Amino acid sequence: MMTDNLYDVIVVGAGAAGLTAGIYTSRAKHKTLILNEGAVGGQMVLTNEIANYPGVPTTNGYMLANAMRTQARQFGSKIKNNVKITSLQLEGDIKEVGLHNGEVFYAKTVILTPGGKPRSLDIPGEDKFKGMGISYCATCDGEFFQDKEVVVVGGGNSALEEAITLTSFASKVTIVHQFDHFQAFEHAIEEVKNNPKIEIILSSELREFKGEEKLQSVVVEHLPTGKQSEIKVDGVFIFIGYIPNTAWLNGAVQKNDNQEIITTPLMETNVDGVFAGGDCIAKKYRQVTTAVADGTIAALSASEYLRNHHVS
Ligand SMILES: Cc1cc2nc3c(=O)[nH]c(=O)nc-3n(C[C@H](O)[C@H](O)[C@H](O)COP(=O)(O)OP(=O)(O)OC[C@H]3O[C@@H](n4cnc5c(N)ncnc54)[C@H](O)[C@@H]3O)c2cc1C
Repeated sequence: MMTDNLYDVIVVGAGAAGLTAGIYTSRAKHKTLILNEGAVGGQMVLTNEIANYPGVPTTNGYMLANAMRTQARQFGSKIKNNVKITSLQLEGDIKEVGLHNGEVFYAKTVILTPGGKPRSLDIPGEDKFKGMGISYCATCDGEFFQDKEVVVVGGGNSALEEAITLTSFASKVTIVHQFDHFQAFEHAIEEVKNNPKIEIILSSELREFKGEEKLQSVVVEHLPTGKQSEIKVDGVFIFIGYIPNTAWLNGAVQKNDNQEIITTPLMETNVDGVFAGGDCIAKKYRQVTTAVADGTIAALSASEYLRNHHVS
């Protein structure tokens, strides 16, 4: 092992959580390498407008990501972009991360922040209208649909909670769910059933998104009869689950049935010296602010680990 390739901290993922972790660890004078597979900034760069990041009333995701990257670099984090991790060894005092091009890096601690993505419907028009009428986050985008008509797809707790949230903005919320019953808490089901702004369409699936520049309608199929109808909409919110980017970890750290990494409140995983944060961990709320908070905690926990474990 060459000392050039030995880091105090390797952060995997340069989204909000990873860049924040890098800012904290490099500012604490820990030699830090951030390895990133996609575009620096992660999901932030998919977001046109971020209006709920405190202190920055309105920004776009690219600007926020760029500012975080600059800050991480200013404190000394090295960022390697467009990498693919092909081997990983997290046990023991020195962790080992191998890349597609044969490079191998070593670290005393690893912070896992590979994020994830909302599950999509994968039907015609979805890619075209993402951010132009289709959203995966009512907290993020609900206010853009003031007095408009929206459809919510899904029948779990998240879908029902988000549908209720959306009634504060939209004039009408139609919930479309594939089964003939919801899979949610009884109190949430009662709340949607009693809300005069909410209409419920069960046993049905969306088949297509239609529109010119912006989304204008959706095609809905009633599954028992196969009958299709078109609903005029201003927006569609899809809540059918979340896919964490953790398959590549195999069994390196403990995950739950949803493939989310299990952490303690200090962002510790089950492996000594390995921390995780952001959208990849088991948690309810996935926002830039929560990713930033997780990244901070993971970095401070890694710093404490480094202070307590003297590995030469
Ligand atoms: C369309 C959209 C709009 C949103 N709008 C808002 C909003 O307005 N406000 C808000 O607060 N939140 C919003 N969110 C949610 C918010 O963007 C995320 O919760 C947050 O950015 C997650 O940050 P993260 O660092 O945990 O993960 P990510 O942003 O997913 O970053 C993870 C990074 O890790 C990289 N990576 C993945 N696997 C590997 C690997 N094996 N090796 C190396 N790198 C890897 C990825 O390429 C990515 O760069 C939105 C999300 C979406 C999709």
